[in-house]
Amino acid sequence: MANVNKTPGKTRRAEVAGGGFAGLTAAIALKQNGWEVRLHEKSSELRAFGAGIYLWHNGLRVLEGLGALDDVLLGSHTPPTYETWMHNKSISRETFNGLPWRIMTRSHLHNALVSRARALGVDIRVDSEAVAADPEGRLTLQTGEVLEADLIVGADGVGSKVRDSIGFKQDRWTSKDGIIRLIVPRKKKELGHGEWDNTIDMWNFWPRVQRILYSPCNENELYLGLMAPAADPRGSKVPLDLEVWVEMFPFLEPCLVEAAKLETARYDTYQTNKLDSWTRGKVALVGDAAHAMCPALAQGAGCAMVNAFSLSQDLE
Ligand SMILES: Cc1cc2nc3c(=O)[nH]c(=O)nc-3n(C[C@H](O)[C@H](O)[C@H](O)COP(=O)(O)OP(=O)(O)OC[C@H]3O[C@@H](n4cnc5c(N)ncnc54)[C@H](O)[C@@H]3O)c2cc1C
Repeated sequence: MANVNKTPGKTRRAEVAGGGFAGLTAAIALKQNGWEVRLHEKSSELRAFGAGIYLWHNGLRVLEGLGALDDVLLGSHTPPTYETWMHNKSISRETFNGLPWRIMTRSHLHNALVSRARALGVDIRVDSEAVAADPEGRLTLQTGEVLEADLIVGADGVGSKVRDSIGFKQDRWTSKDGIIRLIVPRKKKELGHGEWDNTIDMWNFWPRVQRILYSPCNENELYLGLMAPAADPRGSKVPLDLEVWVEMFPFLEPCLVEAAKLETARYDTYQTNKLDSWTRGKVALVGDAAHAMCPALAQGAGCAMVNAFSLSQDLE
């Protein structure tokens, strides 16, 4: 637990480094509990990176606690089932025993959190990069400004400067293989017969290793996660090598044609980390700064939000 005193009648102040899902959640939750909160985002604008995102029961409960659930539900999608295909044949259909889950674009989730933070009066600073923190409760910005607070939240992602400046003991790994993540138009009517409102996790091991995670986000937008080993130059090529993807997934051709048009497509690897502690004095780490996870779990953001929210609750 972060070492923060509560003095009756005194408004506590928090400086939050990072305007991703973890930082915004911490900022909103603390503000709701009466804290004065300033959030620092190093980029020149607040925006989400990546394409789509899955949230499960835990993340959705946090959104409810933040007062942002209704905004997120509007314009996101719960598929009737989560299907897994092997070599283009359905082998399993999951409904998760009725537990709530939801798919959305990252920008949809991020916008809902930014709106909520702004409505509550969180002081948001862009172009404001944190470079260091210390357990006594000081945050140093890239400009040289030093800010004192009762709580410093390091929500500055897997490359966290807040974390590294303090010297938390950490193991960190980078994956060899990556994923191409894109949002494309759904083209539902052009896909022919099929249950295209489902999530479909399409695995192929032959004649090449290629996988597509097909994830409808709403009526108009589709999140495609295209996976091939880094050692496969055609499968990992960006912009997409259309031929090699259509050959394996011909029924998705209308969507893949759109995907191949996206010049900005990237083949991203990912990192994971493990720390022996997430707090030191008045500094607390949340989200990927503390526990970046393998994306196959689809829980990095969900757990980031749960932990950021729990921090604010525990401090009461
Ligand atoms: C391929 C892939 C798929 C995934 N799918 C899912 C999924 O379906 N569901 C799920 O729950 N999770 C998923 N995740 C994980 C999820 O994306 C992350 O866990 C989540 O984004 C972490 O949020 P964060 O706020 O901790 O960090 P980030 O999203 O990295 O946000 C950090 C923010 O801090 C800013 N920043 C960085 N350094 C500084 C600094 N020094 N000062 C100020 N600001 C700074 C950055 O610009 C950024 O805005 C996936 C991850 C990957 C790679």
